[in-house]
Amino acid sequence: MVKALVARSAGADLAVEEIELPRPEPGEVRVRIAAAGVCHSDLSMINGTVRPKFPLVLGHEAAGVVIETGSEVRRVAEGDHVVINWSPACGECAFCQHGEPWLCVTMEGVTSRPRGTLADGTPTHVTLGVGALAEEVVVGEGALVTVSPELPMADAALLGCAVLTGVGAVHNTARVRQGESVAVIGLGGVGLSAVAGAQLAGAERIVAVDISADKEELARTCGATDFLISNPELPQVVHSLTDGLGVNHTFECVGRSDTIRAAWQSTRRGGTCVVVGMGSRDDKISFSALELFHFARTLTSSVYGSADPDRDIPGIASAVLSGSLNLDAIVTHQISLSDVPAAFDRMRHGEGGRSIVLFT
Ligand code: NAD
Ligand code: ZN
Repeated sequence: MVKALVARSAGADLAVEEIELPRPEPGEVRVRIAAAGVCHSDLSMINGTVRPKFPLVLGHEAAGVVIETGSEVRRVAEGDHVVINWSPACGECAFCQHGEPWLCVTMEGVTSRPRGTLADGTPTHVTLGVGALAEEVVVGEGALVTVSPELPMADAALLGCAVLTGVGAVHNTARVRQGESVAVIGLGGVGLSAVAGAQLAGAERIVAVDISADKEELARTCGATDFLISNPELPQVVHSLTDGLGVNHTFECVGRSDTIRAAWQSTRRGGTCVVVGMGSRDDKISFSALELFHFARTLTSSVYGSADPDRDIPGIASAVLSGSLNLDAIVTHQISLSDVPAAFDRMRHGEGGRSIVLFT
């Protein structure tokens, strides 16, 4: 039995429970989790934004050590330090064949089947096929990317979601180039990573935006050149900072129609507006036919940083180890599993950066 953070239903109180995980089947691996981040997508599992199956072990952003391998496992061995990739690619579907592993169709099958049981024998689901807010997970070997033991486990955990998503949105989705201007709206773990990624890409002006003044220092440490409190005049302010043009690229890292609108309007003509936040199906946004034509902007989303995790996680790990990508400002709280509800409360109030559960 291992300890795990379980949601019995949407809106119900969370509890640390004992769960039984299955032995690894052929091609599967058991990982002892060392560090796991608290991502807004975990909160979205229980607050009605998305509708997963319950009971549900939360968590999908994590790193740990391989402790058991099933037969036919080739990619990893016992003792390896690994980052968990919550969107393992099959390599064979139309999307994988087209070079878009982040859109792989196997994802749905992985997330819809239960994995393990609660103490009373009830089968439990695990978030995004992972369930990483737990002492251990059992996942397919394709969900593991080996990293150097020199990489601190808290940083490695971030590479599994926030950093791959934020840095990937900048480098892969928008392809930000040296000297360009960027605005990032929403400065949680994902948005702060986008700011750090924009600095790494050589962006000259990086405008960071949040509703919470708490975020200014964190954003500036990550590389922001300007900080603004979100307000209805945000697009006009962004235009005034950029010779009346708007920024080349905007990254919406909240998941709301009003911030997507603000990001869109803060983008210059011909620029790119990237929706990174995961909003709800009921939160609608509209564009006039004329403005879509006139502004010639690209509006796109970035799922998991449009990343190939097998290529990009090692690349980002090298940047962290060489000091060119500094993640120090992103983690503001090191907590235990029972503190996750308090981390969700901080998230609801826009306090702090990433909270990371450290398992000892
Ligand atoms: P978070 O809750 O830690 O951060 C969100 C930030 O947005 C907070 O700082 C909050 O104060 C700020 N905010 C809230 N309302 C705002 C407003 N009106 N204007 C400006 N700022 C506002 O969340 P996170 O973990 O960083 O995740 C951010 C979003 O990205 C979520 O929607 C999450 O589900 C999504 N996400 C997407 C992917 C992906 O693959 N694209 C991966 C991970 C997370
Ligand atoms: Zn996440």
